[in-house]
Amino acid sequence: MNSGLPQHDPRNDDPVHAELDRRAREVADQVIAWRRHLHRHPELSNREEGTARLVAEHLRGLGLDEVRTGIAGHGVVGVLRGTAGGDGGRVVALRADTDALPVKDLCGADFASETVDAEYPGGPFPVSHACGHDCHTAMLMGAATVLAGVRDRLPGTVVFVFQPAEEGPPVTETGGALAMVEEGAFADPVPTMAFGMHVTPYPKGYVGYRVGNQYGASVLVRITVDGKQVHGSTPWQGVDPMPAVGAVLTGIGQLYRQVSAFDPVTVTIGHVEDVGRFNIIGQTVTLWGTVRCAVESDMAEVRDRLRRLAEHSAAAYGATAEVEYLQPVPPVHNSGPWVAAGLPTLRRVAGQERVTETGATLGYDDVSELIARFGGLYVMLGVQDAVLDEAGVPVPAKGGRGLVTNHNPHFYADDDTLVTGVRLHAHVAYDHLRGALVPEG
Ligand SMILES: [Zn+2]
Ligand SMILES: [Zn+2]
Repeated sequence: MNSGLPQHDPRNDDPVHAELDRRAREVADQVIAWRRHLHRHPELSNREEGTARLVAEHLRGLGLDEVRTGIAGHGVVGVLRGTAGGDGGRVVALRADTDALPVKDLCGADFASETVDAEYPGGPFPVSHACGHDCHTAMLMGAATVLAGVRDRLPGTVVFVFQPAEEGPPVTETGGALAMVEEGAFADPVPTMAFGMHVTPYPKGYVGYRVGNQYGASVLVRITVDGKQVHGSTPWQGVDPMPAVGAVLTGIGQLYRQVSAFDPVTVTIGHVEDVGRFNIIGQTVTLWGTVRCAVESDMAEVRDRLRRLAEHSAAAYGATAEVEYLQPVPPVHNSGPWVAAGLPTLRRVAGQERVTETGATLGYDDVSELIARFGGLYVMLGVQDAVLDEAGVPVPAKGGRGLVTNHNPHFYADDDTLVTGVRLHAHVAYDHLRGALVPEG
């Protein structure tokens, strides 16, 4: 695993690293079993009851100093206080998200989900771990086993964060990382570093990182266009909201040209909800969508312009539009000093040649709420049958299962790769606590 490493980097001279790897190998089969169980029993955002129960039982079984449950819904936090001397007062928060998606499971594995959530707002929905959070949860459970096993060599504290509702709770509910912060989950102990990762369509065992924004800023938008309900045969006696909606949808295509083309922005309306009938001009039409900006400074601009577009387009048709922004998530930002501090650890775990720079994406991850507050790192973990082409872009490996994006019904993650995630958590935590993974300046 150490091939290609600089020979005398003192940050890699520590017998505990080999011990972490040995313990990770020992727990690997258990991690796969947890992952398959979670995959078969996925739960939507803010409904992660069974997942939280499994996690809490495991953490309690490890004899952690604290296991707190019911945080911001079904959040679980475990605290492991190391007993080695030389405590630098450091606290590392390792975070996994636990929720699934309203997506049919077509991953093809024999542990595919057949779950349907009939009660969820807007449902019934088929439910699956199409974003791979089953892997995240299982890997962090494994890392808890590994780190609890070396408690007497930990010069600091590890906080295991199992976070619900990363994909966004129903709009009438709160939840996610910010809700955990607001409920005081990180008030005592206060982390000095947060670490998160995401499984992704990248070669198996590869770790991708980016200095700057790894993921963009995001906000959910709800636009309510209001007209005047009337019989479908006499539109002049009412106000039809539908043409106004058409104008808003068309006008969104022009927003891109109103902000710099050098930093990508997307505005997607993924759901249009009307209350009409073929012979009724309805009172309102509601548009649901998401705004993503690669750089956060564009967000206020895009929000203002979308609001202006909706209000004035509606006015042109005699209707009104109300624009609301919900569930804002800041970008996931990796600072240069944190990346520099973390690279020796990432390279030791994955191997020098498997740690590569990746591009930014307009996905989001609300782990940004933790990294922005406490500092830290976020990386991508490759879990698919891929190779990198000459330009460093992942392409399907011959004879493999192909490249499938997260949120697609066919998304899959390779089980054997999960041990790399366990090792990443364990090595990052240990290196931070012993003062080797700390940004300079
Ligand atoms: Zn997702
Ligand atoms: Zn995800």
